[in-house]
Amino acid sequence: MEFIDLKTQYRNIKESVDRRIHAVLEHGQYVMGPEISQLEEALAARTGAKHCIACSSGTDALLLGMLAFGIGRGDEVVTTPFSFFATAEIITLLGATPVFVDIDPSTYNLDAKRLSHAITTQTKAILPVSLYGQCADMDAIVETAGDIPVIEDAAQSFGATYKARQSCNLSLVGCTSFFPSKPLGCYGEGGACFTSDDELAERMRMVRNHGQDRRYHHPMIGVNARMDSIQAAVLLAKLEVFDTEVQRRADVGARYGELLQGIVKTPEIMEGSASVYAQYTIEVEDRDAFQEEMKRRGVPTAVHYPEALHLQPAYSSLGYREGDFPVAEAAAKHVVSLPMHPYLSDEDLVSVAKMVAESIETLRKHSAATRPELIAG
Ligand SMILES: *Cc1c(COP(=O)(O)O)cnc(C)c1O
Repeated sequence: MEFIDLKTQYRNIKESVDRRIHAVLEHGQYVMGPEISQLEEALAARTGAKHCIACSSGTDALLLGMLAFGIGRGDEVVTTPFSFFATAEIITLLGATPVFVDIDPSTYNLDAKRLSHAITTQTKAILPVSLYGQCADMDAIVETAGDIPVIEDAAQSFGATYKARQSCNLSLVGCTSFFPSKPLGCYGEGGACFTSDDELAERMRMVRNHGQDRRYHHPMIGVNARMDSIQAAVLLAKLEVFDTEVQRRADVGARYGELLQGIVKTPEIMEGSASVYAQYTIEVEDRDAFQEEMKRRGVPTAVHYPEALHLQPAYSSLGYREGDFPVAEAAAKHVVSLPMHPYLSDEDLVSVAKMVAESIETLRKHSAATRPELIAG
């Protein structure tokens, strides 16, 4: 069994992928070819945002967003301590300081209720993450932020719905990733920024290409964050089946939820939201032992993420300590993700759920034998 089955997906869309890649090989505009604007139009339409700026990765999408706001030395950016490292990394790379706010234990996303305490006069942006494919509580965050721009790290949530609107179009800027394992993934590196603000869109386009507004004329400092035409070709092919895949992900998530209810802590989806389940993540008491039991039964699992960002060695100079963000720290100890992709058969998902139940039962018996006091009562 695969954790994410990209090979079956390829077989399903092979004709379109091959034809579109071949067209790039023939026309020869390998970087920023005609596929890019075609993709940008399709992605903008999918989210409802006015502009899409395709780029070279999700990390670079965050960089373009931050550079477009001129974020740099002395600035603070408020974010979550429970995410992939890139979220905080980009803030630090620009010379700004990440200021962490603990997460909501039911969604694993930045807790909007705690946000106002973290905002200071130095706060130049708020960077919530829509983790595991479910949007953060963006309306509450945008409202608390007031005039401070909110950038959604939507690397895991392209295609997710929040109050009848789409992820990436829930605040001033949304940034996503097309890394192969994301809900919409290419065959290499890719990402995109979204905004409905004309001026910001123009700045992000310039930053993407060395701050250039016309050939060899540079009003600002930028980077090379352009997208390869072949990646855009792959994404255009994948977009043809994306809605069907999102629906299947939702069905797999719902089915897992039914089968695992009462056995482990399963994902909680906010009312009015639909997750794209970039990961299907549960919580277990003894994670190492659980993963070992699952492995023995032939089911791959993964951990997103085993260490909270404020405790990463790279951030030791910020002076955070264990206990500063207890909800994030507890999540980092107990979360584990199960196989999740749109080509997971009913048979396989039932079998995964059965293995989870068996593994939990084995661990329970084991701890009853070695530590009976834990089970008494
Ligand atoms: C994957 C991911 C990124 C980075 O995207 P890349 O395309 O790998 O650079 C950033 N933030 C989050 C939350 C991610 O999951």
